[in-house]
Amino acid sequence: MHYPEPISKLMDSFMKLPGIGPKTAGRLAFFVLNMKEDTVLEFAKALVDAKRNLRFCTVCGHITDIDPCQICQDQSRDRSMICVVQDPKDVIAMEKMRDYKGMYHVLHGAISPMDGVGPRILTFLPY
Ligand SMILES: [Zn+2]
Repeated sequence: MHYPEPISKLMDSFMKLPGIGPKTAGRLAFFVLNMKEDTVLEFAKALVDAKRNLRFCTVCGHITDIDPCQICQDQSRDRSMICVVQDPKDVIAMEKMRDYKGMYHVLHGAISPMDGVGPRILTFLPY
C-alpha cells in the first residue's frame, strides 16, 4: 500500500522503536493523525526534551537530568553499600521496592567472558 510521504515517514519513525512492526506503526501513525495538534506537539517535545536533558550521573552512571543524580545527592543514603547493576532500569526497579538505601554503580552492560566482554570493554557512558 502506498501512503502519503508524511505518514510513511511517521511509520518509519515508529518502526525504529523496539517491538514495533509495520502493522503497529501504521496503527500508531493513524492514531497520531487523529490526536489534537497540542497533544502531538507535547508528545514531540517530551521526546526531544528527554533526549536533550537526560545524561548519565558522573558518580554512579544512573540516568538523570541533574548531575550528580538525586540518589547520589541524597545525604540520608548509606554510602557504605554499593549495588552494582547492569543498566539504569535496574536502579529504577530497585528504587520502586523502597527497601534499599545504599548507593549504585551502573555498568551499562554485563561482563560476559564467554562472549569476550571483559570489564575494560564496558564503558561508563555508552551514548
Ligand atoms: Zn548518581
